[in-house]
Amino acid sequence: MTRPEIQTAFLKQIHEDGRQIETAWKELQAHHEDAHASAVLTLAAHRLAGVALRLGYYRIGSAARLIENQIIQPGAVDLSELEKLVDALFVEIKVHKEDELLEPERRSANSSKNVASIQENRSNSLIYLADVEAAQVEALALQVQQFGYSTQTFTRLDDLETALQQRSPTAILIDISFPSGELSGIETVRSLQKEFNNQLPVFFLADHDDVSARLQAIRTDGKNYFVKPVEISAVIDDLDKYLVREETESFRVLIVDDSEVQAKINAMHLNRARMVTRITTNPMDVLHALDEFIPDLLLLDLYMPECTGLELAQVIRQMKTHVSLPIVYLSSETDREKQLAAVDSGGDDFLTKPIKPDHLISAVTSRITRYRQLRALMLHDSLTGLLNHTSFRERLGQEIARSARTGQPLALAMIDIDKFKQINDTYGHAVGDRILKALSHLLTRRLRQSDVIGRYGGEEFVVFLPNTNESTAYQIMNELREAFSLVHHICNGDEFSVTFSCGVATFPERQTSSALSEAADQAMYNAKSQGRNRVLLAGPMP
Ligand code: GH3
Ligand code: MG
Ligand code: MG
Repeated sequence: MTRPEIQTAFLKQIHEDGRQIETAWKELQAHHEDAHASAVLTLAAHRLAGVALRLGYYRIGSAARLIENQIIQPGAVDLSELEKLVDALFVEIKVHKEDELLEPERRSANSSKNVASIQENRSNSLIYLADVEAAQVEALALQVQQFGYSTQTFTRLDDLETALQQRSPTAILIDISFPSGELSGIETVRSLQKEFNNQLPVFFLADHDDVSARLQAIRTDGKNYFVKPVEISAVIDDLDKYLVREETESFRVLIVDDSEVQAKINAMHLNRARMVTRITTNPMDVLHALDEFIPDLLLLDLYMPECTGLELAQVIRQMKTHVSLPIVYLSSETDREKQLAAVDSGGDDFLTKPIKPDHLISAVTSRITRYRQLRALMLHDSLTGLLNHTSFRERLGQEIARSARTGQPLALAMIDIDKFKQINDTYGHAVGDRILKALSHLLTRRLRQSDVIGRYGGEEFVVFLPNTNESTAYQIMNELREAFSLVHHICNGDEFSVTFSCGVATFPERQTSSALSEAADQAMYNAKSQGRNRVLLAGPMP
């Protein structure tokens, strides 16, 4: 899901949870000892707190967490205390109307919309920057914007506090010192953290390094401490790391069991660990479910009426797309020989029923974590996390086939950093690596979710833009080129900027993956020979 879609779903969810909390609360008021009502209330508050805090709605999240904590405290529930907390939650929920936020992002062939969606992407992550020096904070904001974040700047702490009451940013960058005191930035954050239940993502800026200031910053849950002049790519690297972790997709488990009750119990345990589950009681539906649900793991009952788990695993393993999908058998079979046979036939693990929930969760979690790591290694470049050459080519092939079916245009852009060897020679390989990462962050943050980005080799990147014609592609790539050239890099007090050259070719003007790549490559070399730092179109077929 794109971020606006997540936000729309979230608004539905808070109002749904709100209704559940309201009903359960009324029941609890009527019958003090109603265990069911208190369980419903706890669960709804727990779910709401989790989702809200992850999406940056700190006030709702904190309010819901307080309710949860109040109920799970040992001893009888203090109803008057609980009433205050429930009221406080509803005050926060009512700030948001059910239909208030952005419409889900829509793709369109229309060029102006296409460009607008870059803007939309950008405006989804808001960063608050606070520093008493107006010029400094504006300069930093401009740098952060190049990477696709929107920003709001503050030179006064009370303005920052007011803004926080109105809208929760994705992150806050704040100087440790303000006129009210050497460390008043940190002190303000400390009191804000109390108010927001320690959930504010704060990054500190400081004029000089100082261990005791760093310590205090850590004690306010500061994510990091940057010494000025700030190396922007280090800041962005951190922000993106933080955001990526926030957006990590839940683990997906497909449960195949002929006993629906059994399957539901296992699903419930996994859901509690925030995993998403799908249940299939008919093994014949599994292949369809694999394609549609795209699980990270298959939890497979060994004995089912239509076919055994072993047979099913063998069928799945014969399919190229599912060779590495983790399969975990779940069965009451205790015969070690039979368990080994099951693992032999393509399973990864064998869990014996009845299984303790904690054991199930940890077995599934470790398998999925490994699976995702391996996939990431196979498909992605290790320095930038972008698709590697092989997987990019594969995706390009699929996208061209799709464009041929749907008749939609598609653009391919080759990017090569200018005079990169010279940068390595002057500043060292480590600085070169940081610049490669900065470009990768910039592309990732500013392009649409549907655009695909790869690292083709050394300092060459490649992007394809589905549903995008030549002139729009030019506009988008040129905007990126300009943004990248505006980024300041810092090394040993030296400040410099870096540029790239880019060539663009489009489908249907060129019909195959190799014709597109060659044309984009040729256009990129023409851009180099015409003086670099420019975008050229491949133009019509010769
Ligand atoms: P041009 O403007 O013509 O593209 O000049 P250039 O110097 O960028 O091109 P050239 O192909 O001569 O040099 C590319 C350099 O990129 C050489 C290599 O040292 C450097 N490079 C390739 N991969 C990496 C990497 O992963 N990290 C770093 N730091 N440098 C790399
Ligand atoms: Mg090169
Ligand atoms: Mg180069």
